[in-house]
Amino acid sequence: MHHDQNVTATVGHLIDGKIVIDAARTQPIFDPATGLSHKSVALASRATVEQAIASAQAAFPAWRNTPPLKRARIMSRLKQVLEEHADEITRLITAEHGKVLSDAHGELQRGIENIEYASYAPELLKGEHSRNVGPGIDSWSEFQPLGVCAGITPFNFPAMVPLWMWPMAVACGNTFVLKPSERDPSSTLRIAELALEAGLPPGVLNVVNGDKEAVDVLLTDPRVQAVSFVGSTPIAQAIYATGTAHGKRVQALGGAKNHAVLMPDADVGNAVNALMGAAYGSCGERCMAIPLLVAVGDEVADAVVAGLKAEIATMKVGPGTDNGNDMGPLVTRQHFEKVKAYVDGGVAEGATLVVDGRGVKVAAGHENGYFLGACLFDNVKPGMKIYQEEIFGPVLGVVRVQTLQQAMQLIDAHEYGNGTCIFTRDGEAARYFTDHIQVGMVGVNVPLPVPVAYHSFGGWKRSLFGDLHAYGPDAVRFYTRRKAITQRWPSAGLREGAVFSFPSSR
Ligand code: NAD
Repeated sequence: MHHDQNVTATVGHLIDGKIVIDAARTQPIFDPATGLSHKSVALASRATVEQAIASAQAAFPAWRNTPPLKRARIMSRLKQVLEEHADEITRLITAEHGKVLSDAHGELQRGIENIEYASYAPELLKGEHSRNVGPGIDSWSEFQPLGVCAGITPFNFPAMVPLWMWPMAVACGNTFVLKPSERDPSSTLRIAELALEAGLPPGVLNVVNGDKEAVDVLLTDPRVQAVSFVGSTPIAQAIYATGTAHGKRVQALGGAKNHAVLMPDADVGNAVNALMGAAYGSCGERCMAIPLLVAVGDEVADAVVAGLKAEIATMKVGPGTDNGNDMGPLVTRQHFEKVKAYVDGGVAEGATLVVDGRGVKVAAGHENGYFLGACLFDNVKPGMKIYQEEIFGPVLGVVRVQTLQQAMQLIDAHEYGNGTCIFTRDGEAARYFTDHIQVGMVGVNVPLPVPVAYHSFGGWKRSLFGDLHAYGPDAVRFYTRRKAITQRWPSAGLREGAVFSFPSSR
């Protein structure tokens, strides 16, 4: 590992509106495009996390009683502030994650759309009212905030995924403690600082950087009411088990291995273009990436492999800060080694490596960056590790089958069910696929069917533990508790004696 002696800054925590550096334990942050480290991140101790929870707890009563429209106006201001700071934020993302700047802009924009949706919270929080459900009796339901909520987020969308969580949580009247990924925390922290500038009161949103030590406090502290998690499946499952065992509401989104199906009648040129972005965009480090293509019939398989091979030859790989590049580096040296080992393993398992991205050449000064070129496998088979496991890198595998039924059986048998897509011109096949496939988010000629901010995001099977999906209408339900109130004002004419039968409307 290249560890620069010249560590100049430590990324701290944001607690009660102030930056706090609890630097008893720190970890270096690397620039994936150079392999150098100029920064480190403070890893919060139990005491620091407890301080953040206490700050959120103290801020809750006043924030809960702040009129929804006043809370929403802060979200509207934050949208504007983030648009003004977009270049600064995207540079922070690229410097620590590695993705190209245009891609970082895309994730920030998607995050801002979640803030925009959170600014409609007053409308979304309106309850349900029924008058005269019995003599002189009115009944209504309302959605009350939970209290202190927590979010734990992955490295691959340091701006967007936290914005799936806390804006709606606070717009609904909760306060929040966010624990971002320790690998690329700077953009996440900067956005939280800008939320203060936009008018969010201190303590409503706190950020603690750290690792398992910090997460364990959030999962067990009785003051935390709900936990939203996004990350890999083993951790998601553990978070769900521990959080729910401690009485918390938990939604834990996990990993993925998304298959696209290519039908014999599909527009292959269009599918190739779509697959290039879906497989290799962000170096394959997206939970909605397409790492597997199931081609129905050998003719279309041969055509798509040839098309992809030609397109990959024109791809530009290099530092994300250079706008001419299509793909940046992987996030860490360790992840780079892991992805490369999957490619080695795929060859050993007998898949055909059509394009080998190992040993890709990049611009001078970036020789120690974590670059892996696009890799393309043909003849991938279920049972191979490169078929079963989430690689989270620029590796696309083509699986050959003969029928749509075979393709769908493969998808349904896989442990993950996050996203999928079918490329076809056949409406009947598309309708059958979308209706029956056991996957939470489905595209028809749309390779990354990530729902917009006013729908909700979530996979099926081992891609999500919990009941409600992330953001959109489900987030309003996740971050509130329904209360049903029945009210009677006994006026003289409606006065009853004691009633011992169960009240009903008979
Ligand atoms: P990760 O699971 O390693 O880490 C996610 C978060 O959990 C981080 O904040 C990390 O600090 C924390 N964490 C890690 N180990 C922990 C432990 N033992 N105990 C408690 N907390 C722990 O995931 P990652 O590598 O940052 O992100 C990539 C993964 O996230 C991929 O599997 C990807 O599919 C998944 N992901 C899923 C979605 C989705 O919506 N389903 C979205 C983005 C990413």
